[in-house]
Amino acid sequence: MVSNRALAEALFQLAESYPPGDVRLAFLRAAYAVFDDPKEVATARHLPAGIPFEVLPTVSLLARCRGEDALTAAAARFAGAYSGHRQRLSRQGFFSAAEVLALPVEELARKLRGAVHFHTRASDGSASLEAMAHALRRRGYFWAVITDHTQGLACVNGMDSRALELQRRAVARWNERHGEELELVCGVEAEILEDGRLDVPRGHRQGLLVVAGVHTGLTSTRDQTSRLLRALEEPGVFALAHPKGRLFARRPGIRANWERVFATAAAAGVLVEINGFPRRQDVDPTLAKLALDMGCNFVLGSDAHHPRHLAFDRWALAIATVAGIPQERIVNFQPFSGALGAWERMS
Ligand SMILES: [Zn+2]
Ligand SMILES: [Zn+2]
Repeated sequence: MVSNRALAEALFQLAESYPPGDVRLAFLRAAYAVFDDPKEVATARHLPAGIPFEVLPTVSLLARCRGEDALTAAAARFAGAYSGHRQRLSRQGFFSAAEVLALPVEELARKLRGAVHFHTRASDGSASLEAMAHALRRRGYFWAVITDHTQGLACVNGMDSRALELQRRAVARWNERHGEELELVCGVEAEILEDGRLDVPRGHRQGLLVVAGVHTGLTSTRDQTSRLLRALEEPGVFALAHPKGRLFARRPGIRANWERVFATAAAAGVLVEINGFPRRQDVDPTLAKLALDMGCNFVLGSDAHHPRHLAFDRWALAIATVAGIPQERIVNFQPFSGALGAWERMS
């Protein structure tokens, strides 16, 4: 039986063997449909919805291959001759949806107490703070840190100091009314600038939980260790968000000496985020294991931009499980006081 991961990869490679155009697009859409399908296609009765009609017979034939060698041989028959850009590297170390959901992630998710890293309409999310908070409550969380983008991000609708003040008030209002059920904490996802400083000046970070991440220079091949080390030394950084900045089938992420980065994070008490957004899956299990060995503690983030995305904590749980990270090293499993008590006293 071929896995969705292998089948999707074969379809991506088929897509890349054609020049930009209809055939390429059809194979690409099929690849994503397979990769995101919650069930292994080889054992399912129907192919996933969303596979374009013109490539259905090909996908169906490939899905019935008995193993990866047979798959490679069968795929070769449909390949085009185009030798343009290949993105294979940027797809390595990602779980397919079916792989994630085959792990005991639902069971683990029931033990999660806190959520960190999600967005609302105050930046580039699509739901209000109240809608996200109610969704979190329904999912059984007891505390949550809201982390909208700040204005340093040129690409998104980041918050300025006025928007941030409004959000602080909205968080306080929520806590007055619903804090017993779900305690919200006001945070930000700050940008790590080129020189490693943050786009939120120190004076504005008071009482604000800061997760910091890189969103620029992500396709550069230069080593960015010093940028990350400088950011980890900034006072009040709670977590390093999506450390690599990789994006599935787009870019493999930044280059850095991860041993040094994680050793510094561990020494500074900065958590390493395992970002579960399926197109990010940042860090992968190998890098997560390295961080574990360097003494880091972790935070799982869904990076949700919609209530539906809150389920992406399953992807983070899958990475943590495969990397062998014990629950006591992950703040999301702790009650509010354990997870955020030290941060609250410092801020
Ligand atoms: Zn981000
Ligand atoms: Zn984010």
